[in-house]
Amino acid sequence: MLTIDHKHCTGCGACIEACPQLAVVKIRDRYKFVYPSIDPQRCTDCGKCDEVCPLRGQPDTPSDGLGRDFPPLYYAGKARDKATLSNSHAGGLFFLLGKHVIAQEGVVYGCAFDENFHPRHIRASTLDELEEMRGIKPVQSDTDGTFSSVRSDLESGMTVLFAGTPCQCDGLRHFLGRHCDKLILVDMLCGGVTSEGVFHRYLHWREQRLGGRIRDIRFENKRAFGHKRGTRVIFRWGHFRYLLSLPAPVDSFICMLQSGAVLRRSCGSCSYACPERVGDISLGRFVNIRRAHPDFSYDGGVSLVVVSTPKGKALLDELADEVDLETSDLTRASYNRRLVSSVRQSRHRKKRLDEIFSGHFDVAAEDFRVRGMLSRIMIWCRWLLPDCVAIGFDRAKRRGRALLKRIRSTLAPEKR
Ligand code: SF4
Ligand code: SF4
Ligand code: SF4
Repeated sequence: MLTIDHKHCTGCGACIEACPQLAVVKIRDRYKFVYPSIDPQRCTDCGKCDEVCPLRGQPDTPSDGLGRDFPPLYYAGKARDKATLSNSHAGGLFFLLGKHVIAQEGVVYGCAFDENFHPRHIRASTLDELEEMRGIKPVQSDTDGTFSSVRSDLESGMTVLFAGTPCQCDGLRHFLGRHCDKLILVDMLCGGVTSEGVFHRYLHWREQRLGGRIRDIRFENKRAFGHKRGTRVIFRWGHFRYLLSLPAPVDSFICMLQSGAVLRRSCGSCSYACPERVGDISLGRFVNIRRAHPDFSYDGGVSLVVVSTPKGKALLDELADEVDLETSDLTRASYNRRLVSSVRQSRHRKKRLDEIFSGHFDVAAEDFRVRGMLSRIMIWCRWLLPDCVAIGFDRAKRRGRALLKRIRSTLAPEKR
């Protein structure tokens, strides 16, 4: 029987779907993060849950049939169609891949919000359904029943594209337990997820501040901020609809996510944040594109595309008429830090989450509010500056921190 390690469990849901006795149920911790729990009354100790858990396996062994001996290929890519580009995250590659699979009578699985902003994995066999999956969602999605549905689609001979966080893709891979030619895994370069509970408290807080009901929210806003991150909120106030555009540095929720204050525990030691990818194709934002590929137009956003299998390469080749691609390499691709290291958890995580769940989102948000004229100027400058300067700034900060740590450890024994 599975022993649930709450520090590393990613909540992928593979064990829940694999149990033939329905003995593994989904529970939520005090911060509403999802974990499995085993009902000992129902469990027959068959070991199936243990078998499918990615934490038990060796996800990166070549025997998994994903073609790990294939040298990864790195690209900067963007959709040629302006409408696709402006309505999608980064370079719009996910939408093009999904559209291509649907055109071949396949199906796409990906995350979408329902009308109550409940993030869940849905199945798309039409472009309208695919539309719902556009955009990044920094909230852990509900995959209830998704893995079984993928399995039955594959058994009926359909091509399936599954998009999700790397831990969800790995969960699906272990759940299926075999190599499937018709399954295409697209994993996102993941900066961590928060719980639905935190997200809903944020929405409630935002609604109170706006005095209206939120109708739509997206965590990018290309029309207002180009390829820089920002939030776009559409809300209704009486009979009128309004649009609120917030650049990332002034949206407390984004700031909390980026500082690691509200992330799932497993995200702080994520083993998927490395160049050996779970997916056939991995997608994310190409950071510092101006420096990495000065001749590549970055208007409207650019995707970082990592191709890890021949299957992924064949699929990308089929999109040649719709995508502008430029070959890159690991050094340039790793400007997106999620390709080489996991996010840092904030040491104030517990405090922030306690504040949020005791009904004081405003108190938690207050600490992420930009204070003082100088800080405001610094943050806005940093946000307005090109990526290469911001990255240089981050690197200097990291080096400064490491130097400080070295100095402290050198001085420590002397103090004693
Ligand atoms: S050991 Fe078998 S029956 Fe028990 S929880 Fe795991 S999968 Fe279910
Ligand atoms: S299978 Fe997924 S949800 Fe279940 S224990 Fe393992 S990591 Fe957690
Ligand atoms: S950071 Fe890692 S553990 Fe967290 S959601 Fe992303 S892939 Fe999963």
